[in-house]
Formats: sequence, C-alpha cells, structure tokens
Amino acid sequence: MKVSDHIKEAKGETLFSFEIIPPLKGHRIQELYDNIDPLMEFKPPFIDVTTSREEYVYIDRDGLLDKKLTRMRPGTVGICASIKHKYDVDTVPHLLCGGFSKEETEYVLVDCHYLGIDNVMALRGDAMKDEKYFKPTKGGHDYAVGLVEQLDALNRGNYLHDTVETDHCADFCIGVAGYPEKHLEAPSLKSDLKRLKQKVDAGAHYVVTQMFFDNQKYFDFVDAAREIGIEVPIIPGIKPIAVKRHLQLLPQVFRIDLPQDLIDAVDDCKDNKAVRQVGVEWCIEQSRELKAAGVPVLHYYSMGKSDNIKAIAGKVF
Ligand code: FAD
Repeated sequence: MKVSDHIKEAKGETLFSFEIIPPLKGHRIQELYDNIDPLMEFKPPFIDVTTSREEYVYIDRDGLLDKKLTRMRPGTVGICASIKHKYDVDTVPHLLCGGFSKEETEYVLVDCHYLGIDNVMALRGDAMKDEKYFKPTKGGHDYAVGLVEQLDALNRGNYLHDTVETDHCADFCIGVAGYPEKHLEAPSLKSDLKRLKQKVDAGAHYVVTQMFFDNQKYFDFVDAAREIGIEVPIIPGIKPIAVKRHLQLLPQVFRIDLPQDLIDAVDDCKDNKAVRQVGVEWCIEQSRELKAAGVPVLHYYSMGKSDNIKAIAGKVF
C-alpha cells in the first residue's frame, strides 16, 4: 500500500515509522531483524531502507595500491522485500541518482514492481567520500527531480526506450527529501524550496524532512512550502542525539543548528550513556509537540540500534 494511502486512512492520526541502514557487506540480516522486532509493537505502516553510495577502496597489491569501486552496504531492495514479507509491512527503498545510470535505475524499479514494493524515495545522493562536489554518474540524473520524472513516466507505462502496455504498469508512490534548514548546497532556503516544488510538480507524492532539533524550523518550513503551493504531506524526520560527537558531526555533515539548551544538556553529560538519555528525552518532547500539531507521520532515523527509538515511541504512541 502507498504511503499516501496510509496517511489518508489514518484520518489525521499521527503514524509511527522509521528508517534503517543496510548492514555492512558480509553481515547477516538477522542483525536488522533484531533491531526491527522491538519497534513492531508501534505498528509502523512503512519502513524506509537507505541506499549507500559506492566508494573507492585501495587494495595493497605487492606494494602498489589498486583503486577499486565498491559498495559497503548493498542489498536495499532485497532487504525491503525480506522485511515486507517477514513483518507484512510496506517498505520504502531509497533510490539515488549518484552511482546509477537511468537504465540501472529502471531495472531496480522493475524488481521493486515484481516484489510488490509500492513506494520509493527519490534522492540525488551526496558526493562520493573522496570528492568535494556531487558529480552525476554517466547516463544518470543530475538532480532528484530527474529521478522523479523517470518514476512518473514509468508510472504511466513509459519505460526508457520503449512504451509498455499501461494495464500492468507500476504505480509507485514517490517520496522526496526536504530541508527545513535548507540543503547545504542551496544558495538560500527560498531557492531550495523552489527546487522542492519542482520535485512535487514532477510527480512526488510526499516529502520527508532532514532531521531538525528545533520544531519551529519544521513549522516555518511547512508554512513556507504551503505558501508556494506545495500541498503534499510533509513528514518530519527526527533523530535522537546518541553520542557527544554528534554535537560536531551533525552540524558539519548536515549543516543544521542545534538548540543551545540541547548543547548544554549534552555538554553536562559525563558519558555517552547519559548523552543517549538526554537525546531520548529531547526527542520525546519534540515528538509530543509535533504529534499535538497533527503531523501525518513521525519518522525516526534509527542508526542501527533501536533501543532509543523504542524508548521514545513508548512515551509518544
Ligand atoms: P536534490 O533535490 O537534487 O537537491 C540537491 C541540491 O541541488 C539542493 O541544494 C537543491 O536546491 C539543488 N537543486 C535541485 N535541483 C536543481 C537544479 N535543477 N539546478 C540547480 N540546483 C538544483 N543519501 C543517501 O546517500 N542515501 C539515502 O538513503 C538517503 N536518504 C535520505 C533520506 C532523507 C529523508 C533525506 C532528507 C536525505 C537523504 N539522503 C540520503 C541525503 C541526500 O541524498 C542528500 O541530502 C543529497 O545531497 C541531496 O539529495 P536531494 O534528493 O535532496 O537532492
């Protein structure tokens, strides 16, 4: 079932969902199940599974370094299919422009269609680890809007090089990313919002936001989006702080601000166990306020371990 239909069916009640990251290559899927199991009591209608960009590794061959391209966390679509069938829950694979040609994307989408996956998140992806700027992959899309256009065309039976009969064509519900504190490359929030509108106009059905720690940023973002005619649901994505290093890492990687009260509370912690507790408490307060404001879904970024998300959901749902 589509994310947009889950939201309609909920009739204004806030739903619970979360995002997981595939395990490192060579690890077992049981590790994922062990972290998903405790969250299923909160009845998520859908679970997102991220996709990681390819990266370069250097292999020592008799003193000479051989540069090879690899993907550390492959398996997004396979994981989506496994979770869908094990838990009878909808799954949302993340699709990236970076690292995929349009043809490769089409094949992934054909697999999704056969597997009964009804939703996808259309994303550009970041620059590769050792590159400063995002470089489009040869034969791939430059921006997420291109991916949305490809998906929208495919929903109408228009594959890349052929038109297929439309009776059996896919009907993906398309999610896209939004940034309450603007995307790090965007020259202004206003221009980033215009880009978001382009993705929605191209066929996106809902937006999931980048994490934020001050709810006012989300409320202002939704108001500004509505003002320029973005009418689709805007799902807040939130994440509990888990380690002290997040104070530097999150602003550096995502260019987001942290509220001073949260920084002070984390600074006062004597170890990461205490930081994790502060993160949980902050996120409970954020969640309660967002739920009271009637957000369609509370979507949690679970970075592997789910004990903190369970502690939050237990107080909010
Ligand atoms: P876009 O919408 O393409 O925007 C990228 C930048 O380009 C923005 O600054 C935008 O303003 C600008 N822009 C857009 N269109 C144009 C245009 N036509 N001309 C000029 N500028 C333009 N990353 C992963 O690698 N894997 C994941 O699974 C993943 N999941 C995510 C889930 C969510 C909810 C979010 C919020 C982010 C996720 N990301 C993920 C990170 C995401 O890939 C990065 O933030 C990436 O840098 C931008 O992706 P986008 O889809 O927002 O890009």
